[in-house]
Amino acid sequence: MYCRNCGNEVSEKAVMCVACGTPPNAGNKFCPNCKAETTPGATICMKCGVALKADNPVTGESKDWLTALLLCIFLGGLGIHRFYTGHTGIAIVQLLTLGGCGIWALIDLIMIIVGSFKDAKGNLLVKK
Ligand SMILES: [Zn+2]
Ligand SMILES: [Zn+2]
Repeated sequence: MYCRNCGNEVSEKAVMCVACGTPPNAGNKFCPNCKAETTPGATICMKCGVALKADNPVTGESKDWLTALLLCIFLGGLGIHRFYTGHTGIAIVQLLTLGGCGIWALIDLIMIIVGSFKDAKGNLLVKK
């Protein structure tokens, strides 16, 4: 991909552009796909049609695995770990049913332990 700030070619996984020192996704001047200049605020590249999103890389907002685990162990019956991970709707249902009489909380606990629990945005929990 290309740096959205200066158009320099950067690795897909790069957290920072070596040429200009900003996160490659932070800029809004160049298309990451074809390097064409884009207007700030554009949501799509006029040249290649790729979607342009200036905002947060997926990794920035991941929830903490240990926090979710502890919340699930101690307050799982109240769905607190679901509030924490952003599943507010499910959390309210769990709160009203006391974690599906404990079974739902237990399933969530197992999913958190094996590392397959995802937050509301679909990101896996991160072990810090
Ligand atoms: Zn750059
Ligand atoms: Zn493009």
